[in-house]
Amino acid sequence: MLSIKAHKSAFIDIINSMCGIFGFVSKNNIKAVPIILDGLKRLEYRGYDSAGIAATTVRGVFSRKKSGRILELEKILNKNVESSSAIGHTRWATHGAPTDKNSHPHSSCDKKIYLAHNGIIENFRDLKDKLIRNNHKFSSDTDTEVVAHLVEDFMNDKATSFEEAVRLSLKSIVGTYAFTIIYADHPGKIIVARNSSPLLIGLGDEIKFVASDASAILPHTRNVVYLEDGEFAILTKNDFRIANLDRKAIERSHEKIEWSPDAVKKNNFPHFMLKEIYEEPEAVENAIRGRLVIRDGLAKLGGLETVEKDLRNINRLIITACGTAYLAGQIGEYMIEESGGISAEIEYASELRYKKNSLNAKTALLAISQSGETADTLGALKEIKRKGILTLGVVNVIGSSIARETQAGVYNHAGPEIGVASTKAFVSQLTVMALITLFLGRQRGMSLIAGRKIAEELQALPEKMKKVLTRAGDIKKIAKRYHKFNNFLFLGRKYNYPVALEGALKLKEISYIHAEGYGAGEMKHGPIAMISKDFPSIFIAPSDSMYEKTVNNIQEIKARNGPVIAVATEGNKEISKLVDDVIYIPKTIEMLTPILSVMPLHLFAYYVGVFRGHDVDKPRNLAKSVTVE
Ligand code: GLU
Repeated sequence: MLSIKAHKSAFIDIINSMCGIFGFVSKNNIKAVPIILDGLKRLEYRGYDSAGIAATTVRGVFSRKKSGRILELEKILNKNVESSSAIGHTRWATHGAPTDKNSHPHSSCDKKIYLAHNGIIENFRDLKDKLIRNNHKFSSDTDTEVVAHLVEDFMNDKATSFEEAVRLSLKSIVGTYAFTIIYADHPGKIIVARNSSPLLIGLGDEIKFVASDASAILPHTRNVVYLEDGEFAILTKNDFRIANLDRKAIERSHEKIEWSPDAVKKNNFPHFMLKEIYEEPEAVENAIRGRLVIRDGLAKLGGLETVEKDLRNINRLIITACGTAYLAGQIGEYMIEESGGISAEIEYASELRYKKNSLNAKTALLAISQSGETADTLGALKEIKRKGILTLGVVNVIGSSIARETQAGVYNHAGPEIGVASTKAFVSQLTVMALITLFLGRQRGMSLIAGRKIAEELQALPEKMKKVLTRAGDIKKIAKRYHKFNNFLFLGRKYNYPVALEGALKLKEISYIHAEGYGAGEMKHGPIAMISKDFPSIFIAPSDSMYEKTVNNIQEIKARNGPVIAVATEGNKEISKLVDDVIYIPKTIEMLTPILSVMPLHLFAYYVGVFRGHDVDKPRNLAKSVTVE
């Protein structure tokens, strides 16, 4: 059993789970490389595009970094480096491609300060400009590097100590972070800090550790201290001190972790899929972070700035993708058509690539892919690009093929997705489609008031999503009752028609149950023939412009004895009289409803898969990134 406190920490730690940080401080000089590598390998599931290490030695700081998996780093490391304080990082890039130079740790100009970072420094551009004016030379494209120079800059004032320079730097930055920082002149010391990205300290007898999650620390010790947001800690060979950014000392005793290493890796969730569904609110938060100007009703999308003028000139957007990303694109099509001020259409990448298309200079292509490596999408993109059309991407993995191949685009920043069936990446894609709609719409006829409404509702989404998660227990009970049925029909209209398709797709993938998604209005033209008491339907029926029509379709199913589960808007009591089970979601504007209405369907598919005894993280016959045609 978990203590309440440990459980609370676990919940906090699911937030912003990008990249892995690991470090140690030891009483004596020890061989640093094997310890750091072992820690990083246990964290590799958190991010895997590059890795690096830095260790204080008698001859200054030893550091090596390499793009690719940790094994690539291992190949270039001298295993005999002796150190009393070392840090390692496995990166999941957010700013700058996954190259050697962008890998962490990053250093100051004098190569004395080295740091590793998990998170995003939102005001890095301003800071970087100021530091460049102060003659700092940068060697990477990351947001992170500014902090190494910032600490150095503060220390250039000789009266400012290393610790004070770190504190002042932390006070100057806006964003999310977990940091580990070492300084050549203070071997045997690490400063760590946390704001929204996970970080904990492990207390061994001879060695203290710091890591993004306990899975890397557990082989060494079960005694841990969790750092809270807005705190930093100084770890030395003899002790550790925690303080807040206003220098107030904080006393915190350690906790004992009772979980198995495997449970820790999944933050004590039984499967990555469930963990990732619980990360859906965070995925939305990460997608909108720094991108909304609510007062002006604008979406600020840095990745589209270079093509802003070209985008003013287009009047048609072809969206292309595969699988779940296709369904996000289909909802995007509805959003853009209705509010983006241009015409939009979705095409399967595997079809678009081979069919004849009437394209003109006013057409742009938007490719959506979580991995950025989906072969069909990449193929279609290259084919359309050949015709001289403006190409854009919505991609989660920085520096991936589609990100490189497109002229401009928007990153999801959803963090690594491990479960094969996409969940948090899907809601992130929907969020980015809403941002693009706002961006395009405000270039055209959308009013300030309408833009502001969308921005406000986007901002309010994560809290509403957390509310949906509180209903997981009820959804589990419903899944228990229905998991033995062998057929399901998912029905919805307009924005929630693709949500119905997604609900069916997820159930097929995870449970191997035959499930069909249909536009609820189309159901009477065929599928209704299948309805009986043994064939349940799931209706996505929020209180929107299609509600009355959808209710008619529910009546048609009930008249034929079909069991019905409905996803409906809170406060709609009427529907519970009509259907067998209701799952309520909070109210939002119509175009954003899918982000809430899909969550119960993800949970339903997950629980049905578990009740049927399947390996939900690795469904048979499927691969995470489909790099074959
Ligand atoms: N924003 C940093 C980068 O892109 C850190 C990303 C991470 O958490 O791995 O390098």
